[in-house]
Amino acid sequence: MHKKTIKELSALLQSKQVSSVELATHYLDRIEASSHNAFLHLDRQQTLAQAASADARIAAGNAGPLTGVPIAHKDIFVTRGWRTTAGSKMLANYESPFDATVVDRFGKAGMVTLGKVNLDEFAMGSANENSAFGAVKNPWDPLAVPGGSSGGSAAAIAARLAPAATATDTGGSIRQPAAFCGVTGIKPTYGRVSRFGMIAFASSLDQGGPIAQTAEDCALLLNEMVGFDERDSTSLTVEQGNAPEDFTRNLNQPLAGLRIGVPKEYFGEGLAQDVEAAVRAALEQFVKLGATLVDISLPKTALSIPTYYIIAPAEASSNLSRFDGVRYGHRASEYKDLQDMYRKTRAEGFGREVQRRIMVGTYVLCHGYYDAYYVQAQKIRRLIADDFQAAFADKCDVIMGPVAPTVAWDLGSKANDPVANYLADIFTLSTSLAGLPGMSIPVGFGAGEKNGKRPVGLQIIGNYFAEAKLLNIAHQYQQVTDWHQRAPEGV
Ligand code: GLN
Repeated sequence: MHKKTIKELSALLQSKQVSSVELATHYLDRIEASSHNAFLHLDRQQTLAQAASADARIAAGNAGPLTGVPIAHKDIFVTRGWRTTAGSKMLANYESPFDATVVDRFGKAGMVTLGKVNLDEFAMGSANENSAFGAVKNPWDPLAVPGGSSGGSAAAIAARLAPAATATDTGGSIRQPAAFCGVTGIKPTYGRVSRFGMIAFASSLDQGGPIAQTAEDCALLLNEMVGFDERDSTSLTVEQGNAPEDFTRNLNQPLAGLRIGVPKEYFGEGLAQDVEAAVRAALEQFVKLGATLVDISLPKTALSIPTYYIIAPAEASSNLSRFDGVRYGHRASEYKDLQDMYRKTRAEGFGREVQRRIMVGTYVLCHGYYDAYYVQAQKIRRLIADDFQAAFADKCDVIMGPVAPTVAWDLGSKANDPVANYLADIFTLSTSLAGLPGMSIPVGFGAGEKNGKRPVGLQIIGNYFAEAKLLNIAHQYQQVTDWHQRAPEGV
């Protein structure tokens, strides 16, 4: 049962071969028996109540395609009735009085919340080791990181603890954990998924998206997730007419004539040989499907790391100022005066990486350094976006390459080396800085195995609003390969 896709589960629910309560119970039992530390909060009673009302809706004949299907939410989307911690001690006991738009939309579609999943604190990280509630173990190899920051979301799908999960991507946090865990994830164009109720990290980069087993499932989830939200000031209105976009509409289009840009900067020094081999084999598969490969250049790729690690901390330092011991969450128990209360609260509540980002962000926004760092980074951000537009203008329809330079690394091996974590983001940051959609699909395994295999992901990057095209490309690949159907041993 747990190996089935959303599409398959939906058919079983609609034909009443399984009830939503049975399905939710099955997944909750699996979650409780698991040892990946993927889930932070479960509430069987609430989950089963939601499932019972989904069953009633199916019985009444007014169910949608996702009604009754269980979903896990990244613990950065606020949820009424469940704790929302953002992976931080600061919010260890926080309960939101309202649902994030994404949670609300899936709730209205009849999806059943299985629980909240682990993440790097405030989504800052690439390995899920920055969570105040402990690292997540990669289901393929318990010695490996699951990737981050959406490590819980990706691990939950890989271990088949949920058929669907929400995630967020600021600089790669949907694509990279999806790659490390051998599952499928898509980060839409910036602005397509509402940020309302998604706890802010870097507002000009943060974007929600789904992780699931297949591209087709991601399309079904995007159908509910995407849409204008007046409560998000950067929400986009791009619906065709007034009808919401159907992301499944292009899934079955053949790929003949597709021009795939292969950036030379994504295949240079630093790319592990096992990752390159799996990615190149995937590119060859696309050639067999009728696509052509075009050499392109994205010359500013290397600048994406310094640019992102100025802009993201700058925005984070501002966003996180709201956690002051007065309005939300933790407050130090003993203090002399107001300043002392702020200082102690923030020193106790925030982990080391979050404190580091706040300090870097505050520094680059200081009078005197602002022009040299922040303004300069904004200018380079534009040049990075221009690189992509030059490629899409006349050379290629989509861009493909690796998601990360290596397969998942060992737990603990980079935990005390922030720069090593930052460098591993080299292939995902530019897409985020440009606001473009990007996805990751499983395309093989690398050699870095200890207890198990470590998956490799292929990144597919499209121009603005090209989500349906990316999903079509991924779906066609998944029709002729079975990497997405593989599950870790014992699952
Ligand atoms: N690894 C990047 C960071 O640490 C990206 C995280 C994300 O996309 N949320 O900021």
